[in-house]
Amino acid sequence: MEAPRLYSTKRVQSLKPTKKIPLEEDPTKASDALPLPLHLTNAVFFTLFFSVVYFLLSRWREKIRTSTPLHVVTFSEIIAILAFFTSFIYLLGFFGLDFVQSLVFRPSPDVWIAEDEEEENEVLLAKEDARKVPCGQALDCLLPPLPPAAPIVTAQKVFDEKPVTVLTEEDEEIIKSVVAGTTPSYSLESNLGDCKRAAAIRREALQRLTGKSLSGLPLDGFDYESILGQCCEMPVGYVQIPVGIAGPLLVNGREYSVPMATTEGCLVASTNRGCKAIHLSGGATSVLLKDGMTRAPCVRFGTAKRAADLKLYLEDPDNFETLSVVFNRSSRFGRLQGIKCAIAGKNLYIRFTCSTGDAMGMNMVSKGVQNVLDFLQTDFPDMDVIGISGNYCSDKKPAAVNWIEGRGKSVVCEVIIKGDVVRKVLKTSVESLVELNMLKNLTGSAMAGALGGFNAHASNIVAAIYIATGQDPAQNVESSHCITMMEAVNEGKDLHISVTMPSIEVGTVGGGTQLASQSACLNLLGVKGASKETPGANARMLATIVAGAVLAGELSLMSAIAAGQLVKSHMKYNRSSKDVSKGSS
Ligand code: ADP
Repeated sequence: MEAPRLYSTKRVQSLKPTKKIPLEEDPTKASDALPLPLHLTNAVFFTLFFSVVYFLLSRWREKIRTSTPLHVVTFSEIIAILAFFTSFIYLLGFFGLDFVQSLVFRPSPDVWIAEDEEEENEVLLAKEDARKVPCGQALDCLLPPLPPAAPIVTAQKVFDEKPVTVLTEEDEEIIKSVVAGTTPSYSLESNLGDCKRAAAIRREALQRLTGKSLSGLPLDGFDYESILGQCCEMPVGYVQIPVGIAGPLLVNGREYSVPMATTEGCLVASTNRGCKAIHLSGGATSVLLKDGMTRAPCVRFGTAKRAADLKLYLEDPDNFETLSVVFNRSSRFGRLQGIKCAIAGKNLYIRFTCSTGDAMGMNMVSKGVQNVLDFLQTDFPDMDVIGISGNYCSDKKPAAVNWIEGRGKSVVCEVIIKGDVVRKVLKTSVESLVELNMLKNLTGSAMAGALGGFNAHASNIVAAIYIATGQDPAQNVESSHCITMMEAVNEGKDLHISVTMPSIEVGTVGGGTQLASQSACLNLLGVKGASKETPGANARMLATIVAGAVLAGELSLMSAIAAGQLVKSHMKYNRSSKDVSKGSS
């Protein structure tokens, strides 16, 4: 069936710098716009400012003395008030001249600084660093001299240089005490009750302590309250990662625009090409096979016999109901599915698996496990709990147990790509793809002793979607376990491709998913938050989308390699002119 949506097969034109504005060389200054030389203008406004302040204060004192109401003002007082505001605004502009200048001479947003960008940034940072005392030279260095009296203006040198955080005199005192070690940096949020201010103070203290500038790391434009106690401690800013969109990805009859947060050029474009091939072939089918998060504590006994006793008890089907009731106590969503034990001498590793609704589920499963361990102490008082996690779970480490048993969501996703789509969109042949898959993803990975790595670059797609949607990026380790299979079908005309991913660990509630940007990306996919109809449906849908996007990524990169484009594109294109079919594996 032809896909309802047609695409242009024109290749994406590579961007060329239209105009380059050297950060260091432009001699124009905002002050050039003034009618008088800068120092004369300053002198005039300084004199004006202090004269009117003096005049207004004396008028005020006079009014208090004669009991005249303050709102009754004479003509001269009106003029003085106007002069006060005029000079005040000028002086504010003068002290913030760099900021004004940056607004006047801000580079146009479509200027693309390419090759020299890093060099120029380094110059900028070196200049910023130079104003700091290089404390890192010695740990017992003296405290740096304090900057001139407040108000201190911390202008962010991010490239759009808009917001400015003003630190007050009181802030300055707190900064000094953090630098001196009198106030612990971690206590700022609770002491001040203002997360943004705490981050600004910590950041300034850090710059003074290290002598390193953080000017490229933005501070403004982020809700620091939203991460308190949940996502990140001791923040000093946030890292910007661009989000690109691949799609529409047609999976199970629905179209998705897939957000990918990445700094790897061509990754989104390449995945997009795979989405196009899938769409033109009628869409992919993604099936969820299993859904259960795991946690495996390690417990120790005096003898291997006692460890074996517990193993038999836990794995006895007759005891499952009791253990479930105990496990399920702490959550409305965590439901025990099974227990699998592995013994190593006197030590027992107990792998609990449970459903977790729309949460990725690590907290939930850990709480349930703790309930069971407490319960077991009655019948097994000699059981010594070594740790709630004994690495047989296995979280954020490559491990065969996840590859074989699965962890989180296990998904298989497939599509039949029509022969002409392989030729026209992917610029290769079914035969070449099948052969390459056998020799690279299967045999090559076997030769390398791969563990779940029988694919071209599943982790590229998984990582980009995880970052965009607020998943735990460290779980990319096992979530990217994937075997990519390819086979010629329909008398060798078409390509059957599938990805099988046993450990996709995703959630749509909890962790980073509730932050504004990440939640917007989940919303785009239609899986934001808890599913109202069926708890867990959103997280499961997200897992099927991840697998679909991986399928698209595999198709495109494998095709690029089969067509010999990967090497060619490295030879032919420089950094500023990339081939969309390029990827890395
Ligand atoms: P995790 O277990 O992934 O670390 P959190 O403990 O941070 O996740 O978040 C899960 C929380 O969200 C739990 O307190 C749970 O009660 C709540 N919650 C609300 N709706 C759902 C849902 N549909 N599925 C799972 N958890 C939900």
